[in-house]
Formats: sequence, C-alpha cells, structure tokens
Amino acid sequence: MREPGTELSRRRDIADKCRSCGNCRAVCPIFAEIGREDSVARGKVALIRAVLDGELGLTEIFDERIQLCLNCKACIDVCPNDVRVDDLILSARSGLVEAGRLPFIKRFIFRHLLRRGRLLPPVGKTAAFFQRFVLRGLPKNSPFRLLLPAVGIDRDRVFPQFARATFMETVPEVIPAPDTVAASDGRPRVAYFVGCAANLIYPESARAAIEMLNRAGVDVVVPKSQGCCGTPVFNAGDFVTAREMATRNIEALRASGAEAVVTACASCGLTLKREYAELLGFEDGVGMPVYDLTEYLVLRGGAASESREVAEPSESAGFSASAEPSEVAPSSTRVRVTYHDPCHLVRGQGVYEEPRQILRAIPWVEFVEMRDADRCCGGGGSFSLSHYDLSKAVGRRKVEAIRDADVDIVTTECQACVMQLSDMLAQAGMDVAVISVAELAAQRGAGDTDSGEARRWPAVAGAQG
Ligand code: SF4
Ligand code: SF4
Repeated sequence: MREPGTELSRRRDIADKCRSCGNCRAVCPIFAEIGREDSVARGKVALIRAVLDGELGLTEIFDERIQLCLNCKACIDVCPNDVRVDDLILSARSGLVEAGRLPFIKRFIFRHLLRRGRLLPPVGKTAAFFQRFVLRGLPKNSPFRLLLPAVGIDRDRVFPQFARATFMETVPEVIPAPDTVAASDGRPRVAYFVGCAANLIYPESARAAIEMLNRAGVDVVVPKSQGCCGTPVFNAGDFVTAREMATRNIEALRASGAEAVVTACASCGLTLKREYAELLGFEDGVGMPVYDLTEYLVLRGGAASESREVAEPSESAGFSASAEPSEVAPSSTRVRVTYHDPCHLVRGQGVYEEPRQILRAIPWVEFVEMRDADRCCGGGGSFSLSHYDLSKAVGRRKVEAIRDADVDIVTTECQACVMQLSDMLAQAGMDVAVISVAELAAQRGAGDTDSGEARRWPAVAGAQG
C-alpha cells in the first residue's frame, strides 16, 4: 500500500482532535445536498485517519471523497475542538498528488499556465477573441453548446467574458494618489495584488479598487512580476508548484517598497495572509501586513476623515467604524444592494463588517442584508468545474436568498463568487448585476461606469455619489 504522503503524515495531530460530535453536519453545504457521511468533515476525517493508520490506500474512491469539499470553512467555525479540516483535506489532496493522482489537465494548467504565468495573458486574449467573434457569448441556443460536455463543461454554464487586454497591461507600475487628496499621515504606499480573475476577466474591478485607494490618499504600486497567488494549485494538492509561485510573489511584493499589501480578492488575500505561512511553510509569509481592500479602507477611515482640507468630499474614501452616509438620497432614488460574504473573507480572514460599512456609507445605496449572506455560493474555485451539478444545487439556495432580498445589485469581494453568482442568477432568469464592492463604491452616479462590453448594469436611477 502506498504511503499517505509527507504533508498528510505531519497532519496526524489535526485528525486526532476530532471527537466525532457531528456539529459540522449542520453547516456543511455539501452534506445539505447529498446527506452522505463521507461528504461531511467528520466523515472525511475518519477516512483520512484510516489512510494514516494504513487501513485504506490512496485509492480512487478516497480521491473522489476528498474532492467533495468546497473549502468553505463552515465546519471549522462550528467545531468545538478546533479541527482545521481545511488544512487536513488539502494535505490529503497533496498526498494524492504525491501518489501521482493529479489529472493531466490540472497538471498542465498548474505547471505550464499558472506556474510562470507568461502564457496566461495570450490564453486570455485568445479566449476573448473566440468569445467575441466565434462563439459570441455562447447564447443558450448555440449549437456550440452541444460540444461543451466533451471538454467537461456543462452546456448550460453562463461564461464570463475575458477582457481584450489584461489589467496589468493597462496600468503603470506606480499609481500615485492625486495631489488633491491630502493625507495627514504622509503618503502610504501599498502593493496591489491583482489576482488572475481580475487581471484576465474583471479588470474594471481592479481599476475601481485602485481608484478607491487613490481617493483615500494612498499611492499604489502594482508589481508587474506578481502572478497567480497559487490558490487553485495548492487547493488541488500540488504544494510543490504552489511553493514556486509563492516564492515569486513574495519576491515581487517585497521588492515593491510598499508597507502593506492590499487585494480585493478574498482567496488571494487568505492565501497571502495565512496559507503561504501555514500551508506552504514560508515562515514570514509575504513579510508585511496583508489587507482586504474593504478592511484597509475602513482602517484608513480615521486618517482620511482627519485630512479633508484639500480633498473634495466626493474624493474621500474614509469609511469610519460608524460610517453612515452624510446625505441620504430619497429612498425612491436609491439602489437596493446586498452583499454576499465570500467564505475566504468572512471565515478565512474574519472580515464581516467592513464591506457593509462601505456600502452603508454610499448615499444612493439602500443596503439590504440578505438571508444567510455568509453561506457558500457553491463556487469553490475549480469545484464548480468538476462538480457542476452539486455546485448549482448549493448556488440555488443563494439565488433564492437574493430573490427574497429583492435587490438590484449583489456585491461581493471575490471574483470567483462574482463568476458563480452571475452564472446562477442568469440561469434563474434574474436580472441582478453582480459586482465587487469597489466597483459600486467607485461610481459617482448614474452611468458612471466603463465596466466593459459584456457586463450588465441595471439603471442606477437618480444615483448621486
Ligand atoms: S465538528 Fe469538529 S470535532 Fe465535531 S465531528 Fe466535526 S470535525 Fe469532528
Ligand atoms: S469546508 Fe465546507 S464543504 Fe468542506 S467539509 Fe467543511 S463545511 Fe463541508
């Protein structure tokens, strides 16, 4: 029988902490759909223990069960014994990769496309070209959809539009705040970590994030040698490739001369904040504080609100802890907006209040709290590619919560969630836009968007920023 693998063997202590109480059954979105013990954290821990005890091999069936997890971290939140099921499951996947079980297509994508990253922009642009001129967004009745299952993609899936130019190609390396924005504490300089989805698919969200930082009097540097953070790679268990990618990013961020890293992607943020150190073994992580954009803007709120002698009110991005709009538009002209908590931000980083503070501070927004806002949307990164039916089943519950909230716009702080929610809402026939918090906050009023050709925006009637 094959050995369990080095990563997994050193995680024995995590598996031993589980007391089989079953609390995790109440919150696991996968268990809620299929109700099988081996789909929930407790069952997975039992399977991993069996492997560690030599009672079970790294078999195909073990592989299947271990892939049945969204890494949503809901089980960790309710576990009375602090069992880090996420670390344990990823280590088990690492054991499977060490045993040669990484599928060819993932191996190719991780080690040839993502590892160095040089091929990603041409691949994205080629995809953009085909979407625009050959597939034309793949309308529902397109005969091309019949071919999608042959390459493992569900024929109903609604695709995001790749950008014609990547975000990184369109920005200079240093983007200083305008001179009109004063900062009492000098001019902070942060490194902006873009993330693959914002770079290739949603460049407007990255532009909005930088605009918000600039409005807060922050100089932004976008290190050009940054690449994919490695989340999809170590999520699949390929820790060796992920370590190479982490090394490159750490070097790029440390060379930037910034005092902190800011990202508007929940998964990138969690990876830079925690996983480089905890999972991949880089003791100091990236070597400086890492913030989600909303977290950083709220943190800056105090400093920004003290330094508005030069700044126009509309140029300020100061969101204090008690942020309320100073001038609230009449409710008939306000846009109803809700917020979906990405798992990797709310549970992964403990960021809950900050995005809400920012949304509540926008005068033309009526913030609506939806039911179960912190429940997983079912995306789970590549989970939605490999387990689309299950992903859709989890996503449908989120769609119902959004329908009941009766909103015009859903905001979130993770591009993978934007992708999943856009797909789910479109399939449900709901005309609700899904955008990042920064994209909404950066708007000053109706029609103030250059969000690109394929993104749909509802009319922002009477909106004033
Ligand atoms: S909640 Fe924690 S201790 Fe209880 S069964 Fe689940 S993983 Fe084990
Ligand atoms: S991380 Fe989420 S999907 Fe995975 S076992 Fe825990 S609750 Fe279930």
